[in-house]
Amino acid sequence: MGLFRLKGFPGTGNFRHGIHPPDNKHLSDESPVEVMEPPESVTLPLLQHLGVPCKQVVKPGQEVRYGEMLGKGEAFVSASLHSPLAGKVKRNAMVTLPNGMHLPAITVQAKGDQVSPQKLWDEIRSKEWPRDCISIYDPYTIVSVIHDSGIVGLGGAAFPTHVKVTPNDTRMIDTLMVNGCECEPYLTCDYRLMKEAPRAIVAGALLTGRAVAAKEIVICVEDNKPDAVKKLKEATAQTVIKIAVLKTKYPQGSEKQLIKSVIGLEIPLGGLPSDVGVAMSNVGTMATVARGVIKESPLTHRVISVSGRGIRQPKNLFAPIGISMGEVIRHCGGLTGDAARVIAGGPMMGFAFADFSTPVTKGTSGITVLTHEEIKEGEETACIRCGRCADACPMNLVPTRLALAARYNNPSIAVQYHIHACFECGCCSYVCPSKINLVQLIRTGKKLAMAGRQGG
Ligand code: SF4
Ligand code: SF4
Repeated sequence: MGLFRLKGFPGTGNFRHGIHPPDNKHLSDESPVEVMEPPESVTLPLLQHLGVPCKQVVKPGQEVRYGEMLGKGEAFVSASLHSPLAGKVKRNAMVTLPNGMHLPAITVQAKGDQVSPQKLWDEIRSKEWPRDCISIYDPYTIVSVIHDSGIVGLGGAAFPTHVKVTPNDTRMIDTLMVNGCECEPYLTCDYRLMKEAPRAIVAGALLTGRAVAAKEIVICVEDNKPDAVKKLKEATAQTVIKIAVLKTKYPQGSEKQLIKSVIGLEIPLGGLPSDVGVAMSNVGTMATVARGVIKESPLTHRVISVSGRGIRQPKNLFAPIGISMGEVIRHCGGLTGDAARVIAGGPMMGFAFADFSTPVTKGTSGITVLTHEEIKEGEETACIRCGRCADACPMNLVPTRLALAARYNNPSIAVQYHIHACFECGCCSYVCPSKINLVQLIRTGKKLAMAGRQGG
């Protein structure tokens, strides 16, 4: 575990296993967030979150205002959808997301005057966000506004935020952990948000802390982001919020590892952060909560990173949800001649895609474009039983067993070796000298296990 110690917290600031890939954040971390102009149209899948799709509440041909609800999250684990444009609803479409999900979507064609996205971003990065009068907001109202605003976790998992913060008599929340680790290589959207809009994050954290009646609020940041730490320390001065500065290590930002690092508690296998009294939310989600509750603005835009050596001009962008990945890539000067792989998200947990009409969704934290040199393509060779994959796994799993179970269509063995505890961090694939795509096999194994469960 080394000599690193996290002062002021029960945890050590570290977790077992994990890896240290080059973070490559220098490609985009000095690029201030740039605001994208409204596109001609946006395409919005009805499922952009974990859970049940929202129910479409507009008809083709109908005119909609900026921020108007297009889909209602009727189920408890669902999230509503709002229009980032003023315009007209076109006929419904089907889209395939980079993770392979094929989903119905609503397309809105821009029409008439648009709300200025620069104004929206200026509001987020303003220094005027309140810190002292949060108690005027009733906890139930905060939860209900989070629900109505379609807010989901913006760190990538896109779990509906109201589900995490709804009061629950059986599981009390002691600590709200705000996740600003951004441990995925290349991505810098959270870093820029912490640097440029710390007051919005703090206001959202205070509101969310009030909603869950947290005794402690901690913003967690890795030690490779000293400028963000400085800005957050200034923004949290004279508030109850603490800052935990953690060792830079992948995947420090995953829920289980972060809770272990900061609080020293282990989430039981198959459990949730709430089982150990924690609610966790990403920094971007917190800024969105502040906008929703204080400005009554739904989630329509987000900050994304576009980075990698395969993109001509790496940038951080304030982009409307539903804009095509292709438009975003063009805005960044397009791909370089040696671009080899375009990934939605970061290189460790993201999904490669080739259809550039696919839209940016609420969970899109960025686009990473790797070159042939970066991905070091090579033939898979036989497993040499070196054990590096198991040494790297932060969940103490045996990735080879899981991968073999998937390869030989044996879901019961996969389940026996806790395949569902794998959160697809990619550490095992990253370290494998035989270039075995373990995480891809594990994803297949999970599908097999799920099919077996459904088939009884
Ligand atoms: S992808 Fe899964 S098995 Fe591989 S290291 Fe991560 S948690 Fe472990
Ligand atoms: S790291 Fe690769 S070669 Fe080594 S044991 Fe794991 S699967 Fe086999």
